[in-house]
Amino acid sequence: MPELPDLVYIEKKLRPGVVDQEIREVAVWEPIVLRMGVPGSFSDVLRGMRIRDLHRHGPFLVFALPPLEIIVHFMLAGFFRLEERRSVKRQTGNRLNRDHCFSLLLGSGRSLHYFDSRRMGKIYVIEAGATAEIPGYDTQGTDPLSQRFTLQSFKEKVRGRRHQVRVFLMDQSLMSAIGNAYADEILFDACIHPKTRCDQLEKQQVERLYHSIVSVLRRAVQIVEEADRGIDVKMRDHLKVRNRRGSTCLVCGTTIRRTGVLGYDSFFCPRCQPELRSRLVSWDKLS
Ligand SMILES: [Zn+2]
Repeated sequence: MPELPDLVYIEKKLRPGVVDQEIREVAVWEPIVLRMGVPGSFSDVLRGMRIRDLHRHGPFLVFALPPLEIIVHFMLAGFFRLEERRSVKRQTGNRLNRDHCFSLLLGSGRSLHYFDSRRMGKIYVIEAGATAEIPGYDTQGTDPLSQRFTLQSFKEKVRGRRHQVRVFLMDQSLMSAIGNAYADEILFDACIHPKTRCDQLEKQQVERLYHSIVSVLRRAVQIVEEADRGIDVKMRDHLKVRNRRGSTCLVCGTTIRRTGVLGYDSFFCPRCQPELRSRLVSWDKLS
């Protein structure tokens, strides 16, 4: 699943290739990913439309084609590829592989291909603004990269919450588009065990967590952009704990562990991110 830094990069890279482009031709192989909120078929509705803008709303990419919008939610395995100029036949007529779901041939002669091995991604075509039917769209929380995500607003989100902190971080209605990978990285950066309850966090930990959210995500945006590996690549090799179970912690050398938090795998360093309970025990022993 693309996470926030991936999505920022995808939007930035796609924008010059799709904005102000007319959709000349449409080819569909897997209509299961399409959700039509307007009458007509995907192909008939989009053919001849012009993409006027592209922006991100949390995990959604929004293509504006007034009076319509195409809203893309990649879910687990969806991704785009913008193909270089080739013959029209080659671009729209041929299915490139079994994960290839649809293609839009643009006025420039380039094609925007969508692939999804799981067919779980959703591509909505709606009247602009008619987002009420799109699950999770209107209820997205604050974007952690936006100006609105302040320390004060974060403290208000944390206050009185009894959830485990990792569950809290991934609650899309509070903060938008933090997924499994960056939830782990943020907690590692903040030295907080993933199972710590929000109402057990000390004041300094809440502040540290806020700064880790902002700094980990902003750093990742920069790393993904500088690596520039293409919009169909999920870049993960800069991560310090995610999927590194059994490797040594880059900070202290302890072996990275995995634990389950509400059904999701979470990776952490038991030394850098001590469990609250064990810390209390060790304080008892000291006294
Ligand atoms: Zn460590």
